[in-house]
Amino acid sequence: MATTKFAIAPMKAAQISRPGGDFEIVEREIPKPGAGHVLVKVQACGVCHSDVLTKEGAWPGIQYPRVPGHEVAGIIHELGDGVSSWKKGQRVGVGWHGGQDNTCPSCRRGDFRNCQNLKIPGISYDGGYQQYMVAPVEALAAIPESLSDVEAAPLLCAGITTYNALRHSGALPGDLVAVQGIGGLGHLGIQFGNKFGYKVAAIGRGSENAALAKKLGASVYIDSKATNAAEALQKLGGAQVILATAPNSKAMSELINGLGPNGKLVVIGATFEPIEVTPLQLISGSRTIQGWAAGTAADSEDTLRFAELSGVRPMIETYPLEKAAEAYARMMSGKAEFRVVLTM
Ligand SMILES: [Zn+2]
Ligand SMILES: [Zn+2]
Repeated sequence: MATTKFAIAPMKAAQISRPGGDFEIVEREIPKPGAGHVLVKVQACGVCHSDVLTKEGAWPGIQYPRVPGHEVAGIIHELGDGVSSWKKGQRVGVGWHGGQDNTCPSCRRGDFRNCQNLKIPGISYDGGYQQYMVAPVEALAAIPESLSDVEAAPLLCAGITTYNALRHSGALPGDLVAVQGIGGLGHLGIQFGNKFGYKVAAIGRGSENAALAKKLGASVYIDSKATNAAEALQKLGGAQVILATAPNSKAMSELINGLGPNGKLVVIGATFEPIEVTPLQLISGSRTIQGWAAGTAADSEDTLRFAELSGVRPMIETYPLEKAAEAYARMMSGKAEFRVVLTM
């Protein structure tokens, strides 16, 4: 008698099954891509500080179990119905922008980055801490051949955020641009700033990172423990832009007086504490404070191509998927140099 055999093809995933729960390595069936989606064979996935939103349940409405991860580099394994612009075997990345609704007021104006119903991999649907993931086509960015998977992954959140924030900041070649924090975001911000032709002032706490900051492309290193960083920036003429990457609201507040006329504090380091500023600080010199969130898949492609062109690369530490808990703890410790990346 003929029997029907179902091919159960399991894969490994690192999931969180409740807010505040530990990572669990589980076997799951490989998912099927629906219409307008592709199945990506994940090769590498960066561990981002924002994964804390999934781990601790800090983002409203997350459904568990959930697989975190929004810095995904992989290969298209299967196409869903109606997908014509992507090919099987093509290398793709998926970042923070995991899909838009195309109907909200922001989308209707073409401002997909600020979609009011933005989908985020690892939050809205299962992300890259697994061997295969399903993603909608609008979340896909092509990865240039010369970038490896582990190099590309962190560029899809940390990279695009610093690249996009700086290129839209209004700073021009030759301008003084300060990068506060030499960490996962900052070490990329310094490199991009240098390649954009800015005079980069790197601001760190302590002298340990001075040599590295210079190597990454900073012209000046300011030790905010030893000196008043805002005064140091004013001595250099005042910063056109300060890219605030370290999640420390007090440190950000202390830098505002380092802005030159029409200078802008661009905030990308996420914290829950308020930034303190007086109206007079903003009025004198017409200074502004702006936040910036990542960018679309097209922005990711720009970031990856620019990295290929200019030699900007993330500094990484890699862990196998099975050690997701250890990798996450390493990222949370703040001691990683600088981005932690899971390999499948
Ligand atoms: Zn991220
Ligand atoms: Zn929308």
